[in-house]
Amino acid sequence: MAFQLPELDYAYDALEPNIDAKTMEIHHSKHHNGYTTKLNGAVAGSDLEGKSIEAILANLDMSNGGVRNNGGGFYNHSLFWKVMNPQNKGTLSGALKEAIEAAFGSEKAFMEAFSNAAATQFGSGWAWLCVHKGGKVDVCSTPNQDNPLMPGVTCGGTPILGLDVWEHAYYLNYQNRRPDYINAFFNVINWNEVERRFNEAK
Ligand code: MN
Repeated sequence: MAFQLPELDYAYDALEPNIDAKTMEIHHSKHHNGYTTKLNGAVAGSDLEGKSIEAILANLDMSNGGVRNNGGGFYNHSLFWKVMNPQNKGTLSGALKEAIEAAFGSEKAFMEAFSNAAATQFGSGWAWLCVHKGGKVDVCSTPNQDNPLMPGVTCGGTPILGLDVWEHAYYLNYQNRRPDYINAFFNVINWNEVERRFNEAK
């Protein structure tokens, strides 16, 4: 059973003006599709074939570049589309809000920490909010398509919010203004989905 490119829950133009339609179309139909196709090629005929992406990444041989890059790319983008939503955004609330305030002091301080992780990731990569068993949350960043599910990668735990800071994620609209893209991302976070993932993984 091969991995399949997930459909978006919304139209390519639904996140405008925060993320433009052309970027979304290329990002999903070309970049994410490419990772998906290459992941299937990388696991075909190996003992990884048929396993879940979470199981593959958690037990990853980090020297296996094909699965590391494309499995990471498949998983990371699948999460990214889900944690954004133009309509049903919700607000940071409940147990997740409490965990964020316990870790960072305030929602504003969390936003600063997350923005800083995204802004200071040199070159291509991701910023993450992760939850550990017991409910503690923290923020980190990873290069390329690595993510904290992989063995020994940055903060560990389960990523529940991720921001793609590869130039392909923002360059058409924002060019070199990565901080503006990061600020815009906060306008489209689907907090209901982030909280759902927090409660599932904590
Ligand atoms: Mn991307």
